[in-house]
Amino acid sequence: MAWPTSREAAAETSTGRRTPLTELRARPVRELPGVGPRIEAALKDLGVASVADMISHYPSRHEDLSNVKTIGDLRVGEKATVVGRVVSTRPLGKPVRGRAPGFTAQLYDGTGYLPVTVWGRSWMARGLQPETRVVVSGEVQSRYGIQLVAKSIEVVDEEGRADEGPHAGRFVPIYPANKDIQARRLRALIHRALDTAGHVLDPLPADLLARHDLPNLHDAIHEVHFPEDRPRLRAAMRRLVFHELFLIQTGLAARKARLDKTEHGAKHRGDGRLLNPFIKGLSFGLTGAQERVVEEVLADMRLEKPMRRLLQGDVGSGKTVVAVAALLTAVESGGQGAIMAPTEVLAEQHFLSMSAALANLPLNVVLLTGSQGAAERRETLRRVEAGEAHVVVGTHALIQKGVEFRDLSLVVVDEQHRFGVGQRTVFREKGKTPDTLVMTATPIPRTLSLTLYGDLEVSIIDELPPGRKPVETRIVDPAERIEAYEEVRRELEGGRQAYVICPLVEESEALEDVRAAEELREELEHGIFPDRSVGLLHGRMKAQEKREAMADFRERRTDVLVATVVVEVGVDVPNASAIVIEGAERFGLSQLHQLRGRVCRGLHPPKCFLVGEPKTDDSLKRLEALEEHQDGFKLSEVDLAIRGEGTLFGSRQSGMPDLKVAKLLRDIDVLVEARREAFALVAEDPTLGRPDHRPLRREIRELLGSNVEWLFRE
Ligand code: ADP
Ligand code: MG
Repeated sequence: MAWPTSREAAAETSTGRRTPLTELRARPVRELPGVGPRIEAALKDLGVASVADMISHYPSRHEDLSNVKTIGDLRVGEKATVVGRVVSTRPLGKPVRGRAPGFTAQLYDGTGYLPVTVWGRSWMARGLQPETRVVVSGEVQSRYGIQLVAKSIEVVDEEGRADEGPHAGRFVPIYPANKDIQARRLRALIHRALDTAGHVLDPLPADLLARHDLPNLHDAIHEVHFPEDRPRLRAAMRRLVFHELFLIQTGLAARKARLDKTEHGAKHRGDGRLLNPFIKGLSFGLTGAQERVVEEVLADMRLEKPMRRLLQGDVGSGKTVVAVAALLTAVESGGQGAIMAPTEVLAEQHFLSMSAALANLPLNVVLLTGSQGAAERRETLRRVEAGEAHVVVGTHALIQKGVEFRDLSLVVVDEQHRFGVGQRTVFREKGKTPDTLVMTATPIPRTLSLTLYGDLEVSIIDELPPGRKPVETRIVDPAERIEAYEEVRRELEGGRQAYVICPLVEESEALEDVRAAEELREELEHGIFPDRSVGLLHGRMKAQEKREAMADFRERRTDVLVATVVVEVGVDVPNASAIVIEGAERFGLSQLHQLRGRVCRGLHPPKCFLVGEPKTDDSLKRLEALEEHQDGFKLSEVDLAIRGEGTLFGSRQSGMPDLKVAKLLRDIDVLVEARREAFALVAEDPTLGRPDHRPLRREIRELLGSNVEWLFRE
């Protein structure tokens, strides 16, 4: 391809001044001619505040005008793109709440007239004054003569380079727009912003670009908006994807380099005096995967370098045992270990099961949660600080001010995706560079964990304990839910127990939820299972009530537990063999998988009923995926494919920015390359302090913000 290599490009412009993106971020869009308060507000809604945002507001696609048909040539049944001028528009159909459900635009292109039907988007009609030039794609149908039912309709009038100049108008960029600012306006503004920006400085090293045959940033940005041809557009996209992934990976690599170099952690020297009897005392043998992972964790703990390890394992794969093995090793080595869980119910469960499993061993396990009384809390804190408490199980209460450990040498974060990076950091800081184990039932596909956790070692439990039966899963129409409950009754008659999950009303524990939960319990206790006892568990109950509800269920004083999503994570009652999820269409896929995981732990073939009426394609796909798959990794891929990736990698969870252009499933090859280059670069220049790496460093700092600020402390 005829890209000038970045070196040539650099040579050409070596005399001109290059503008760093940083500088463009500091310039508000208001500076651009034609941007007043109204446009400014509309842009803000699109996430565009600065000139830099403006030029990186990339088109979602391009309309290719080279395939345009003339109106005279259209044939019924084909999909076609037409360019023409608007003659008139009129609303279509009966207004609903004062708004027409769509409109018709009459087009003329010199060869004929064509009525175009647009459903929805009635706001667009405003921008289609007579004589406006538009490009329309859709299907040609015959209805009182020929007409086109539009999938898209875009204005391509005289503004912007799309329509004039040397490469006039083959590809018209289509921008994510909204009703306050129409696409045409955006195109013009972006055009202006590109002019204003001048020559954009490329923070990536030139030799890197040359090696991968990538265009420089300035050209890539221009070509992505107003491409000359398809190959250039593709190259530009590839560059932007590479760019995005490379910055993140370099940030991760630098963080890892810094931690590896400067931190000295505890060298754990476990002698097995607690661990061995614990393992022997288990009612089961470890699976091969558990054994391997325990060994990986212990080996890592023996090193002086602080452990930073992610443990992935599907729901029910037995991660807790691994955590306990690590905690005991810390205690054997004279330290303290702490495990943090996202809910009180789960923390309590860990506390109870560990207390039982470790009852005959010489160590103290304590519980720390937010709902404990002041006196109890004071005493617990004293024991933790004095080192009398060896293993501390808790919720967020563990990371509050005032919690001091004598020598915290291992921290375990359970269900780590429920915590923010900040919280994990505070937790670690309770110790002096403690070893860290974070555990997740992995809502992310295997192939992608390296992006998110690029600075962690990864252990995977890829095997379930023997005898696990797949959960027979069925979507149940609400009209037939009583039949589902009949099947549940059979489970109960066989001596097993069941969960019934209440529909999610908005905020997971809003008052309506509580009322809905109480009503559901009434219905079950009096209507459906009059001869059974039905318990209730929701987030608004007092800690003591929750504790009792769980204990009643665990000890089989209740047969059915009606619960809100508080049981979502981790709760483990092996005798429960059925779960009914009401309003299943409102839950996310990984949430449903977690909920279903509550019944995969026993020896009886478990059943899961998803009661719901999926109203959209996507929600139907989610439920069907659960019918079809048991494997959490597989499900997370499906989830990703359905929802797109945007916020899945949300900054709260990973500390990483949301991806704007890269799509991880699609761009996995680019990711692997970007990662390799990032780690190579950091190996050479760990602080990115070399003068030619400064722009890169500045970009990363801006992009990753406070998550890496401490990286480059000098
Ligand atoms: P998760 O990985 O979801 O946290 P848990 O650690 O809660 O899973 O384990 C789920 C259940 O499986 C628990 O009841 C636990 O006692 C049991 N379990 C764990 N390991 C084994 C094993 N190797 N064999 C049989 N049961 C096991
Ligand atoms: Mg667990």
